[in-house]
Amino acid sequence: MTSRKGAALIICSPSGGGKSTLISRLIAEFPNFSFSISYTTRNPRPGEKHGREYYFVDRSEFEDLINRHFFAEWAEVHANYYGTPLQTGLDLLESGKDIIFDIDVQGAEQLRKSMPDSISIFILPPSRQVLKQRLTKRGSDDAKELVRRLEAARQEIGRAGEFAYWVLNQDLEPAYERLKSIYLAEKCRSSRNREMLRDVLKTWEDQGTESTGQ
Ligand code: ADP
Ligand code: 5GP
Repeated sequence: MTSRKGAALIICSPSGGGKSTLISRLIAEFPNFSFSISYTTRNPRPGEKHGREYYFVDRSEFEDLINRHFFAEWAEVHANYYGTPLQTGLDLLESGKDIIFDIDVQGAEQLRKSMPDSISIFILPPSRQVLKQRLTKRGSDDAKELVRRLEAARQEIGRAGEFAYWVLNQDLEPAYERLKSIYLAEKCRSSRNREMLRDVLKTWEDQGTESTGQ
């Protein structure tokens, strides 16, 4: 993938770090955003819908998609496969849409390589205790799965240094404001706005030589 018009946000955190919460606010506020819907072999949680949060497939379907080079990246996370479809993301970026990838640290590493102008953001939970409370309160994982995710969190946070930005998700409001600020600042990056500058300069060319009026 090379440089495209839309902005690609890679958002990563340990499970329970607050990705889904923050991402849904960003998408609600900025309609130009699309969410990259991943494929996974994990079971849907109550309330999740095929084609909305994920495409839920079995392992043999997933492996078939790997073999057909369907994914921009894929990884095994918490004993399940997760993968980002390649073409949908490319099409969206090409059409000028901004896109959000909610993926794990392994996927982020792969996407950063194929999309060097992507914006990588790591959401940090304030502490192990708070993360445990949030995962427990969310209630989407059984006790064994919860321990697995808490243990994985330590490893994932250990790789936060690979990301361009860190957002501490202590209180939701300031965390969201910071995430939004990163997005808005990145949208103003000169390298993303060559056409805008060209259009402004063109208004001088269209005008011809300015008369002094004297
Ligand atoms: P992720 O998508 O990273 O797994 P979620 O967005 O599902 O995480 O957040 C995990 C749980 O923590 C959810 O129940 C969510 O409502 C809650 N949560 C997220 N951010 C905060 C916050 N800043 N303060 C309190 N609870 C939060
Ligand atoms: P969950 O099961 O809680 O929805 O997600 C578990 C982890 O898988 C999260 O860290 C999430 O970001 C990650 N994940 C979701 N989709 C993808 C994907 O397409 N690729 C990779 N590498 N990770 C993903």
